[in-house]
Amino acid sequence: MNGNLRIDLDRLMGRIFRLGEIGALPGGGVKRLALSDEDKIGRDLVTEWMRDLGLAVSVDRIGNVWGIRPGAEDLAPVMIGSHIDSVATGGLYDGVLGVLAGLEIIERLNDAGIHTRHPLAVGFFTNEEGARFPPDMMGSGVNQGALDLDEMLTAVGIDGKTVGVELERIGYAGDVPPGTLRPACFLEIHVEQGPVLEEEGIEIGAVTGVQGISWTEFTVSGVSNHAGTTPMRLRHDAGIVSARIAAEARAIADDLGPPQVATVGVIEFGPGLVNVVPESARLTVDLRNTDDAVLKAAEARLRTAAECFAAAEGCGLEVRKLARFAPVPFDPDTVDLIARTAEALGHSVRRMPSGAGHDAQMFAPNCPTAMVFVPSKDGLSHNVKEFTAPEDIRAGADVLLQLALSRAGVVDNAGETS
Ligand SMILES: [Zn+2]
Repeated sequence: MNGNLRIDLDRLMGRIFRLGEIGALPGGGVKRLALSDEDKIGRDLVTEWMRDLGLAVSVDRIGNVWGIRPGAEDLAPVMIGSHIDSVATGGLYDGVLGVLAGLEIIERLNDAGIHTRHPLAVGFFTNEEGARFPPDMMGSGVNQGALDLDEMLTAVGIDGKTVGVELERIGYAGDVPPGTLRPACFLEIHVEQGPVLEEEGIEIGAVTGVQGISWTEFTVSGVSNHAGTTPMRLRHDAGIVSARIAAEARAIADDLGPPQVATVGVIEFGPGLVNVVPESARLTVDLRNTDDAVLKAAEARLRTAAECFAAAEGCGLEVRKLARFAPVPFDPDTVDLIARTAEALGHSVRRMPSGAGHDAQMFAPNCPTAMVFVPSKDGLSHNVKEFTAPEDIRAGADVLLQLALSRAGVVDNAGETS
C-alpha cells in the first residue's frame, strides 16, 4: 500500500523556490552565509513550516534546528537532514533539497494519515558550508561530538564576528546540549555537485561514502641565479622541483585510477621573474580517495618522489600537512536499500562515492547513515547556475520517502507494523 505513496513535486518545488527568494542574487542563485541576516530569515521560514506541519521543534546550542513527528513507539527517530546555508554564490538546491524533501515527506504522511513506528525527524545544521566561519560541517560536527562546542562558539568568521555572538544576534542560540540527538538512522538527499550521473544518464546515486581528503603543502628552497649565464648542471632550481612534484601528483592519480584524484591548486615561485632561476617554490597538493590504505600509499609515494626530486636538484624541502580527513564509509545495508528502492521505483541507479563533504558524514560513525544523490546539470554547484531537473528531484524524493518508511516502519490501522 505505501509502496504507491509519492511526493507532491509542485509543493516541494514551491518550497525550494520560496526559500530561494531569501538572499536571492540578481543572476539567480542565493547568498545565505551562515548566521547572516539572510540565514536568519531562511531559518525562520523553514522553522515556521516545521511548526505548520505539527513538528516539535528543538534548537541546540550551535543553532541546529530539527522538528520531530512522533512515532507509535518511544524510539530513536529516523532522521532526514541537510543544511540551508550557502556559499557567497550558492545555488537553489545545495543542502536545501535535503531539508525540504524531508518536510515534503512529513506533509505527505500527514495527508495520508500514515503513522510510523519510529518518530521521524527533519533538521538543518548550522554552517555546513564553512564559507563564513571555518570549519565546514560545524553544526552537525558539534551535534554528533566530532567538534567541540565551546571552541566552535568562539570561531571567528571572515568578517571578524564570532559564531556565538552571531547565534545570539539572530536568535538561534538554543539550549539543547550536544549529544542529545541520537537518531536510529540518518538519511540525506543532496545534489551530486559533480558530472557523473548526468554524463551516464543515471537518475539516482546510492552514495557509498565520503572520500578521504589529504592536503599537503611543499616548500622548496633553491638558489636564484641568472637565467642566461648559469649552466644547467649548476642550478638549484626550486621551480623545476615543484613542477616535477605537480607532475608526479597527476601520475599517481593516473596510475591508481578512479576514484583517486589529485589536484595542485597553488604553485608560487620566488622571486617569480622571467629571467631568474627560482630560489623558492610553494605548492599545495589535494589527494582524495575512498580507501584510506590507497590514500596513504598515494601520500607516501608523493612524499618520497618529492624528496628525490629536491635531492637531485640540490634543493631543500619542507613538507607540511594542511588537512587530513579519513574516508567515511556509509552503512552498506542502507546503501543497498537505496539501490533496491530506486530500482523498484523504476529509476536507474549507480553506487558512487561523494567527492564533497556532507553533514551525513558526521552522523555515520554514530548511526546507520547513507545518502541519495540526484544529477547536477553540467556538474555545476557552488554556482548560481546550479540546476537539477524537477523530474530528478521527484525521483530522488520518492526514493527517500520509501527509504524513510522502510526504516521507520509503518503502523497499520490495527496497530501492526509492516
Ligand atoms: Zn551541501
